[in-house]
Amino acid sequence: MSQPTLKNAPSLDAYWMPFTANRQFKAAPRLLAAAEGMHYTATDGHQVLDGTAGLWCVNAGHGRRAIAQAVEQQLLTLDFAPSFQMGHPAAFAFAEALAAIAPGGPEAGLDRVFFTGSGSESVDTALKIALAYQRAIGQGTRTRLIGRERGYHGVGFGGISVGGLVNNRRVFTQLPGTDHLRHTHDPARNSFVKGQPEHGAELAEDLERLVALHGAETIAACIVEPVAGSTGVLIPPKGYLERLREICTRHGILLIFDEVITGFGRLGTPFATDYFGVVPDLVTTAKGLTNGTVPMGAVFASRTIHDALMHGPENAIELFHGYTYSGHPLACAAGLATLGIYAEEGLLTRGAALAADWAGAVHDLRGRRHVIDIRTIGLVAGIELQPRPDAPGARAYEVFVDCFERGLLIRVTGDIIALSPPLIAEPEHIAEMTRILADAIDRVA
Ligand code: PMP
Repeated sequence: MSQPTLKNAPSLDAYWMPFTANRQFKAAPRLLAAAEGMHYTATDGHQVLDGTAGLWCVNAGHGRRAIAQAVEQQLLTLDFAPSFQMGHPAAFAFAEALAAIAPGGPEAGLDRVFFTGSGSESVDTALKIALAYQRAIGQGTRTRLIGRERGYHGVGFGGISVGGLVNNRRVFTQLPGTDHLRHTHDPARNSFVKGQPEHGAELAEDLERLVALHGAETIAACIVEPVAGSTGVLIPPKGYLERLREICTRHGILLIFDEVITGFGRLGTPFATDYFGVVPDLVTTAKGLTNGTVPMGAVFASRTIHDALMHGPENAIELFHGYTYSGHPLACAAGLATLGIYAEEGLLTRGAALAADWAGAVHDLRGRRHVIDIRTIGLVAGIELQPRPDAPGARAYEVFVDCFERGLLIRVTGDIIALSPPLIAEPEHIAEMTRILADAIDRVA
């Protein structure tokens, strides 16, 4: 591993890195110094093709001048405004612009927008809105929240509780009254599938079983990622989300789609809600909302939910929830500029045009040693390697390190490699990604 050669390189001791094996990383650090378009430049000067849009967020590519200029102008005009009982025009303008492209289109009515500072905050916000709504309509016994195995919903206490990753909650405990559906990953029945797998829609009936077990009158909401990203690109079987929607509606359970990854064009449609044609009651977003530049999240709520909470005396606060940085001026400026780029360059639907070539290129990795499954949808891919029996995760990690040295950033979770390039990717970038990845997979022990 080449060591970074930063002049006046900082000591690595003080920064406690998130979700990182700190000691391993600091022994052989990988540091990024700059980014432009499809590429990072590492501190040792080598170019790294961005195969992951940063962390699933830089959908319009790096170094976008329009965003930089909008943020600078906003910073010099109005750097901060109190978010409670006070407003500023950019927040209303950004919410209005988001409402115009809201998940599911105008008929879905998901056009009321609550701003947060991150994906985790969006998830906890959506769960709290769900509980508040149930109470507001006289369904106060509905306090249970249902998630799914292998779901990732950030790291707030709500998110880890409905999330399906035991490591993220093992030492922290979790909220009472949460339960989980089984995940839909079934390699025995679905492997090397392009798009949605054929088998597994019946797994949605798990929700019916939880209704039978706990009583519908105890369940407020069910949250799923339409396509689970962080846990390895798990694509819903055909009919699964439709069935989940139907069961939720029948039992008065709110359906929440966590679109922190799938939002803003990842699947070749503005939102996964549009891709699958299934309309939830709440949608969480972050990441691509500001092209990853200024931290921000947003929750889209249905008008029905919003309006039900606009009750009581007019001088009463309707929802006792919010953040200092809700609707932060810089984030709104960045977001507005980002939406401008998405619209001008057609990026929210560009993935649809690239999807077939993308799937073809990635599925060409089939047959290489250790590759046991490949899944693709929109501009996302999951490539699963056979774990080393003595060291699960080691193989994919080796590929990750090798790819970085050869000039490609990928993401690994366990022995699954995830790819999700910026939506500005050209065919030659895709070819380079799969070429470097193929070489790295071939060299793995
Ligand atoms: N939900 C999903 C589906 C995510 O993928 C993530 C982040 N990867 C989050 C929530 C949490 O977002 P953040 O890290 O911004 O808190």
